Amino acid sequence: MSATPASPFGERRYHAWNDHVKARYGGRVQKVSVAAGFTCPNRDGLLGTGGCTFCNNAGFTPGYLDRRQSIGEQIDTGLRFLDRRYPGTGRHIAYFQSYSNTYGEFERLRDCYEEALAHPRISGLAIGTRPDCLPDPVLDYLAELARDHIIELEIGVESCDDAALAAVNRGHDFAASIDAIRRAAARELEVTAHLILGLPGESHDGMLAGAARLSALPVRALKLHQLQLVRGTPLARQWERAPESVPLLGEDTYLELLADFVEHLSPDILLQRLGSEVPPALKLAPHWNLRLSELAPRLSAELRRRGTWQGCRYRPAP
Ligand code: SF4
Repeated sequence: MSATPASPFGERRYHAWNDHVKARYGGRVQKVSVAAGFTCPNRDGLLGTGGCTFCNNAGFTPGYLDRRQSIGEQIDTGLRFLDRRYPGTGRHIAYFQSYSNTYGEFERLRDCYEEALAHPRISGLAIGTRPDCLPDPVLDYLAELARDHIIELEIGVESCDDAALAAVNRGHDFAASIDAIRRAAARELEVTAHLILGLPGESHDGMLAGAARLSALPVRALKLHQLQLVRGTPLARQWERAPESVPLLGEDTYLELLADFVEHLSPDILLQRLGSEVPPALKLAPHWNLRLSELAPRLSAELRRRGTWQGCRYRPAP
């Protein structure tokens, strides 16, 4: 079936990160996860010790990671795994994913990043962090690194709604995300915002309003995740006690929400992820039949069925 001529994104109907990366770097850029042993202010006592109620870092840490290894050794281990799984990948970047990877003494951050960049097969860094852990000197340093390396800065926005952020004990508000994104973009750093769809208390219309609020910011890319309950988290316990207080999205509802969200999102923002998959042993709910790899084609199919595409309902602020 051919795309309607009005879709600027062809058959996909959304602005896909992978297409952009292949065009920009001439091939795939694969992330190699590393664990540098950082913590976060929501766990070490600065803001609290309980963490965000949805958080269990084991839920998004690849099985091949061995924290006892040095960063260089972790990269070697990760590359052995990825070379088998994705042979022929052009470039690799080290992915500092778990916890807040800009939270720590500046010298320690710098040593960790530079150890990764010293690896002969590493072309850059992806750094995941919270918006309130990005002081200007760290951003200045990352901007300096970005002159010669791929630097992806992933900021955990999680929601554009302050009540939803407070309900999951996030410890920062949306204003903190606005501030961090603007300061990073002012240094020409490319920001990927991380957002969870379906946090308790967020309405469908509220999340669509979030698409408009994010679109007004200098965000380069977006990682969208459906809310999943990871065993051992306060949110999982809350759901077990009172399931009605944590409504979960079924796969069809999520796909509809995703299509609506994408229609309201600026066409300039690249979609790097459309959902996530917590390892089955750790996931309490929801249980979908839909695999993660099926989300992208299902989103395209839904947009095609509607005759719509990313940004078709986006209205830039006057
Ligand atoms: S999600 Fe991030 S900020 Fe929240 S508790 Fe977990 S590591 Fe800390």
